[in-house]
Amino acid sequence: MNSNYDVLIIGGGLAGLVNAIRLSGIGLKVVVVEKNDFPKHKVCGEYISNEVLPYLRFLEVDPMIAGAKQITRFMLTTVKGKTIEAKLSMGGCGISRFTLDNLLFQKAKEVGCSVIKSIVDKVTYLDDQFEVLTRDGQSYSAKLIIGAHGKRSNIDVNLKRSFIETRAHYLAVKGHYKGIFPEDLVALYNFKGGYCGVSKIENNHLNICYLADYQSFQQFKSIEDYQKEVLFKNRQLKEIFNNADPVFQKSLTIGQISFLPKQPVEQHILMSGDAAGMIHPLCGNGMAMAIHSARILSELIEKYFSGHVQTRESLELEYAKQWKKQFQSRLFAGRIFQHLFRMDGLSEVMMSGLTMFPKLLPVLIRQTHGRPIDAYQ
Ligand SMILES: Cc1cc2nc3c(=O)[nH]c(=O)nc-3n(C[C@H](O)[C@H](O)[C@H](O)COP(=O)(O)OP(=O)(O)OC[C@H]3O[C@@H](n4cnc5c(N)ncnc54)[C@H](O)[C@@H]3O)c2cc1C
Repeated sequence: MNSNYDVLIIGGGLAGLVNAIRLSGIGLKVVVVEKNDFPKHKVCGEYISNEVLPYLRFLEVDPMIAGAKQITRFMLTTVKGKTIEAKLSMGGCGISRFTLDNLLFQKAKEVGCSVIKSIVDKVTYLDDQFEVLTRDGQSYSAKLIIGAHGKRSNIDVNLKRSFIETRAHYLAVKGHYKGIFPEDLVALYNFKGGYCGVSKIENNHLNICYLADYQSFQQFKSIEDYQKEVLFKNRQLKEIFNNADPVFQKSLTIGQISFLPKQPVEQHILMSGDAAGMIHPLCGNGMAMAIHSARILSELIEKYFSGHVQTRESLELEYAKQWKKQFQSRLFAGRIFQHLFRMDGLSEVMMSGLTMFPKLLPVLIRQTHGRPIDAYQ
């Protein structure tokens, strides 16, 4: 069977589904190919910046109606127990990916998008159109392909993208817990070789999610040993874990997390979300960037199909230009934070500086965030 689509989207995460809702909503024939079922838990800190709240509401997806917790404060602690707090000027909310991705999935179906469960294995570009092969042996044709396959995928390997050649240093662990924690706070707890984020989500559970250096993690036999020996050196974090009851039978883990630069367009595939570039989770802004990049891309694709952007080449050039203008400086700031947090001594020095000049923290946070977005700005 070969079906013809205007747009085929690889991956039904935030970027894929936001593109899908917008493009199906304007009458294009769109299909999302997603390898997992909905709903599904994902490794993520689950704090989403209000930068994209107006746009989500424009798409008729409202995290607040789904019970998301409004978060207005940020706290940072070091291993030695230094703590600094700041008010989040834009703020954000706590909502699980289980709920948020599913809200977007339901909306995509409601506006007429096809969603197929499979894995995209091969994409071929020939005679100004794409052929896509999925693992279940189906093939699809499409005028445009959006790569919304996340931070690392078989697609990146097939395309021989440069970041895939370099070994990535990080892994991440996430769980939901029952426990006491302020609803309006997102807190980051630094430990040797990583940091752990804690905040509440819609069902009042706590999300505890940490990013760790793979080399140091490797030295321990189990997640529990690693947590006890490394994370718990931060006493505040130890107290949180000790007073929280896990909801999942087993924590979720992912490895090979890379923050190396990527290109927003590769071999005519228009990359969106983490597939175009991933900011360090420390900045708490990857989800907003994924949604924002989908807004930029879907609006350009709309112009392409209406004739206002006339050629594939101008679509690709304009998308790459807008993507870089919007995100390049944030990614740069994110990389600097990432380095500061890897160097434990420096992290203490940085914290001392921030304690002396507390107004600096909101300024630093602003470097990695954009202004609130709506449709057509
Ligand atoms: C430890 C950690 C903590 C984080 N915490 C936060 C946070 O608190 N706040 C924040 O804003 N951001 C956070 N982020 C970043 C955030 O999770 C990502 O930026 C966001 O998920 C990107 O969305 P996406 O749609 O690009 O990718 P994803 O949500 O990863 O979606 C990609 C989808 O593509 C599918 N897929 C992949 N390959 C294929 C294929 N070949 N065929 C079919 N389907 C495929 C996958 O199954 C997946 O569903 C965190 C990230 C990490 C690693």
